[in-house]
Amino acid sequence: MTGVQIMEMGKRYLMQNYAQLPLVITRGQGVRVFDAEGRCYLDFVSGIAVNALGHCHPKVVAAIQKQAEQLIHCSNLYWLEPPVVLAKELAVLSGLDRVFFCNSGAEANEAAIKLVRKYAYGRGIDNPEIITFTGSFHGRTLGTLAATGQEKFSLGFTPLPEGFRHVAFNNVAELKKAVGPQTAAIMLEPLQGEGGVYPATQELMDTLKELQERGILLVFDEVQCGLGRTGKVFAYEHYGVKPDILTLAKSLGGGLPIGAAVAREEVAAVFQPGSHGSTFGGNPVACAAAKAVLDVIKEDGLIEQAAGNGKYMKTRLTALQDRYPIKEVRGLGFLLGMEMDQPAGQLVSLCQEEGLLINCTAERVIRFLPPLITTREEIDEALEILEKALKKFFS
Ligand SMILES: *Cc1c(COP(=O)(O)O)cnc(C)c1O
Repeated sequence: MTGVQIMEMGKRYLMQNYAQLPLVITRGQGVRVFDAEGRCYLDFVSGIAVNALGHCHPKVVAAIQKQAEQLIHCSNLYWLEPPVVLAKELAVLSGLDRVFFCNSGAEANEAAIKLVRKYAYGRGIDNPEIITFTGSFHGRTLGTLAATGQEKFSLGFTPLPEGFRHVAFNNVAELKKAVGPQTAAIMLEPLQGEGGVYPATQELMDTLKELQERGILLVFDEVQCGLGRTGKVFAYEHYGVKPDILTLAKSLGGGLPIGAAVAREEVAAVFQPGSHGSTFGGNPVACAAAKAVLDVIKEDGLIEQAAGNGKYMKTRLTALQDRYPIKEVRGLGFLLGMEMDQPAGQLVSLCQEEGLLINCTAERVIRFLPPLITTREEIDEALEILEKALKKFFS
């Protein structure tokens, strides 16, 4: 099919819940993707922070092929090697103890919410409440929409489950006022992604640590910021605070759908046979791909590389502020945001015309999520395109 035919068929047969750009991607290789006409683009979106190793990394492809030939699915009625091996790897990486596998970020957060509630009932808290923050994004299921502190996502989908209270992000005074006997957990992204690339302050994290010492669980949603994206394995390592429950998804499977809720022993123990489950959870192919992703990240030193190159990119973006009305450049590692003084969606199209894929979130924030493998030369190339686009945008 031609690109135009694909778009037309999509408009006829898919539910129109995405606002796709008029671009059909047919192939990817490393930091680049190709459209139906064979045009090449630098991909600084990475499938929304999914393709940490870029597109079609040979070791991920090989792991998928090998596992697909051996066993694609068999259910959680039996023991399978790939989820067991991956669970151990995640436990070692996080210093937490046990893992529940599912298929997406929202499901990982659903599992976290259920762990929190069951743990709270066991400790005599009736009607447990979870505090979350404004600007957060935790997923699109009804439970995670209730957790998400942005009303626009739940418009038209009420009633939502009860038991969530939203507090202004990084507002410690408001948080302390909101905590009460019913507070079972506080859930947050250490670095908010969807909400516009806002890192938590050290003050907030220090306060969370105090609350954790008083028995309130900390749930860190690292679905977007985890696994090396911020220049550390987990974003919480920047703050010296460790969660009781950690959720992961996006980059974990190298592009295959997988999510994980990781918890410390005492919390994980509330899940007993029958408590929770997922037919596809722990799928062997997805788990084999994830193991390959973690191996490559370690073997190739990609986290240190992303930390250094992310810093370089942030410095270059910040320098653009001398020439263009850019409000702020924020973020860590390869999760960077450039806040404009006006709606910035047009910049995405201008960059696309010149061969660079970027993303705009929270209306005015250009979000950069290059693969962890991105080199300085590729950053320079992207910055050259971005500057061309900025010139047109402001002319
Ligand atoms: C993307 C995202 C989710 C939801 O993940 P899905 O796989 O789309 O369900 C949850 N939390 C954060 C922080 C995310 O960025």
